[in-house]
Amino acid sequence: PSTATKIQSALVIGGCGSLGHRTVEQLLKLEPTPQVAVFDIQTKINRIQDVNYYDVDITNKDQIYSALERSRPEVIFHTASPPAALSDLPLYMRVNVDGTRNLIECAKVGAFVYTSSASVVHDSVSDMTDGDDSLPLLYLPDQTEIYSHSKAVADQLVLNANSTTPAGMLTSCIRPSMIFGEGDYVTGELVKRAAEGKYKWQIGDGKNECDWTFNENVIHAQFLAAEALLDARVHPPASDDMKVAGQGFLITNDEHISF
Ligand code: NAD
Repeated sequence: PSTATKIQSALVIGGCGSLGHRTVEQLLKLEPTPQVAVFDIQTKINRIQDVNYYDVDITNKDQIYSALERSRPEVIFHTASPPAALSDLPLYMRVNVDGTRNLIECAKVGAFVYTSSASVVHDSVSDMTDGDDSLPLLYLPDQTEIYSHSKAVADQLVLNANSTTPAGMLTSCIRPSMIFGEGDYVTGELVKRAAEGKYKWQIGDGKNECDWTFNENVIHAQFLAAEALLDARVHPPASDDMKVAGQGFLITNDEHISF
């Protein structure tokens, strides 16, 4: 945002990861500069001066409580998750679902913004073109897409936690597609494997489309959501169209990429 930010202090959960670290960097560029803290299980990498790093596993409520007591943020950006391509349902449920529930139960903040995923509205079978924010969240009963399933459950937990009472927390979910941009872990690996001649198979006719989201757009969306939630605490929005609290937003680029 070009105007002065309302975010005075922020906590980035998973702030040593690819998106979380970029979020921390961009927070530090806001004016006036907010206080920034990070919770992560790997705080040795992607460290920035003037940021307070806490070794916190979000599956551990005691660790969350104690670090929150010390950091006292006003806004939480929750970007933590295990990587997407694992076949470990218990891990996804423990971190994405139980960990997110722990954060919701422990946090007493004005605004809570969760980095969900565009895959929470996808069933892994049907084609989906030009989907929008009106699509319902999807739970996969057979849990074929275990990562997406855990993200959908967590997304719903966050939206259900939205509370307009004076002591309550306003919440919102940002749902990006595959994230690319400076510092991402995906595109470099794709190019490297292609250069090594490792891509020898094609599924379908090569015209399958999927969305990617530029990381700066994800961060911008997170900040807009946080600003809107903080604003809504003082001036509740006049119409439902303006409501950010309790809502999820798909963030994609305009262009589809075929491969
Ligand atoms: P990443 O793996 O780079 O970062 C995730 C961070 O979370 C890591 O630093 C990791 O240490 C931390 N973490 C994992 N388990 C934790 C725990 N139990 N307690 C505390 N911290 C923990 O992931 P990313 O690519 O930066 O993704 C950020 C968020 O965006 C995730 O929630 C992911 O689900 C979501 N997302 C990512 C993509 C993508 O293409 N990368 C697409 C859509 C949504």
